[in-house]
Amino acid sequence: MTWILRSDRVLLGDGTSGFRLVPAEIAVAGGKIVQVREVGVEGFGPTPDGATVRDLTGHLVTPSFVNAHSHLAMSAFRGLATPRVMVGNVVEELYYRVESHLQPGDVRAFSRIGAWESLLAGVGCVWDHYYFGDEMVGALRDVGLEGIVAPTLQDLAGPGVPQLDRQWETTLELAADSSLTGDGIGVALGPHATDTVSPELWQRIARTSADLDLPIHVHVAQSIEEYERALSRHSASPVAGLQRDGVLEAASKLLLVHGLFVSRHDIALLNADRHMLVHCPWSQVQFGFPAPERAWLDAGIPLALGTDCGACNDTMDVQRELKLMAWGPSYATSWSPQAEHFLDDGTLGSARLLQARRSEQIGQQLLSGTTERLLDAVWSVPGAAHPGFRQGVIAPGARANLAVWDPMHPALWPGNDFLHAFVMGGTSGALRGLFLGGRTVIDPAVGPEGLLAAGGYRAHQAEASERLAMLLERAEVDPQPWRQHRGNV
Ligand SMILES: [Zn+2]
Repeated sequence: MTWILRSDRVLLGDGTSGFRLVPAEIAVAGGKIVQVREVGVEGFGPTPDGATVRDLTGHLVTPSFVNAHSHLAMSAFRGLATPRVMVGNVVEELYYRVESHLQPGDVRAFSRIGAWESLLAGVGCVWDHYYFGDEMVGALRDVGLEGIVAPTLQDLAGPGVPQLDRQWETTLELAADSSLTGDGIGVALGPHATDTVSPELWQRIARTSADLDLPIHVHVAQSIEEYERALSRHSASPVAGLQRDGVLEAASKLLLVHGLFVSRHDIALLNADRHMLVHCPWSQVQFGFPAPERAWLDAGIPLALGTDCGACNDTMDVQRELKLMAWGPSYATSWSPQAEHFLDDGTLGSARLLQARRSEQIGQQLLSGTTERLLDAVWSVPGAAHPGFRQGVIAPGARANLAVWDPMHPALWPGNDFLHAFVMGGTSGALRGLFLGGRTVIDPAVGPEGLLAAGGYRAHQAEASERLAMLLERAEVDPQPWRQHRGNV
C-alpha cells in the first residue's frame, strides 16, 4: 500500500549535490521511498486513488540520522570507568572484564535502552557492533529502531573469543534471513580490531565480504597497544596489515572506526570508493584523542560520524558529534606554543601571535568542514554504506526513514538556517516524529513526550536495571566507583 507524506518544508538533496528545502510529497511503499515530487505554486492537488495522505505542513521533514558506530548495550557501563582507568586502556582493563560475564539476555536488555535513546535523538539506524548478535537484533525489533548489526568476531583476545564460531554462524544466518529486511535490519561482518583477529580469520572475513557483498565494520588503530602489537607481530601498521591480508582489496565496503594511529602513508593505501573513516569525536576525547580527521578528508576519504558507546560518550545522539567536529579543532590554539608563550610573558606581541595562530586555525577549519559536508557525515555517507539499506537522503529507492521536526521549537528558532542549526545546535528537543521503513515509530501528532511514560519502556528499563546489578555482582565490579573519588554523591 502506498502512503504519501506532504510538507511545505522537506529537505531534499545532500551536501555534494546541494540541499534544498522545498514543499514536496514523498510517496512510500514497501518501506521505501518510491517517488518524491516537488510541489510548485499549484499546490499539492487531490489525493491519488488508494493512497493515504499524511499532511505535515508546518513541520520540517529530514532524513533520520544514521549513527555509523555504536555499541548500544554498553550504555549499561555509563559512569563505570574511573579517571584512573581512563588514563590507561579502558577497553582492556575494564570493559573486557565485565563483558566476560555477560549473558545473552543482558545484551538484549541493555541494547534496548540505547535504542530508545537513539529514537529520541532522531536516529533511525545504528551501525551496532557487539557480542551476541541475535540478541542485538531482538533488541532492535523490540524497540523499533533499524540497524546494521555486526556480531563481534575475535579469535586472539577479548571476551568474544569463546563465542567466535557462534558469532560467525549468527552473522551468516542473519545475512540469509530475508525477514529482517522489512524491519530495516541488515548485517555487517564485525571483526573487533586488527590486534584481536588473526591473519587467518581476516582472510576468511575478506573472502566472505566479497562473496556475500557484506560491509566490514571494524575498530582500526584505536590504541597504542594495537599499534605496538601490529608492528611487533607483523612489522606492519594496522592498516598495512589489512592490505597484506587482502582486506582492503576484497571488502565490498570497509568502515574503519577511530583510526587514531593511522599515518598519511596508511591513508594513501585506502580507496575512497570503498573505504570510509568512522569518526567518533566525543568518544575519542574521553578514551583517546580526536583522530586527525583532516588528513583523511584531504585524501578524499569519506567520513561518517558515530557516537561509539554510552560508556565512553554518554549519549547516543549522533547529531551532537557535528559541533565538536566542526569547531573542536579550535582547542589546538589553546594548546599551541603561542598560547604557552603568551601565558608566560603576557606581552602585546605574544597576544598578536596567539591571535594569528587562531586566525590560521579557523581558516583551516572553514576549508575542511562546510556545513553541508558535515551533515553528509550523519546522513548520506553512512546511509550509503550498506548496499541493501540506502538511507540518509530523501530520494526514490532510499528507505523511508524520516524525522519530523518542529521548526518553531526554541532549539531551531528563528529557522532562517536549519542546516546551521543541525550542525551547531542540540536539536533533539525539536523532534516531533519519526517514520522508519514507512512505520510510524513516533507519531508527529503525539510527539515523543509520551514514549518513555508508556509501559514498553518502563518494563525494558526495569529488566535492564535488574540485569545490570546482577552482572556487576558476577564481575565483582563496584557499581558506583565514583564514590571513591567524590565521596557519597
Ligand atoms: Zn567502538
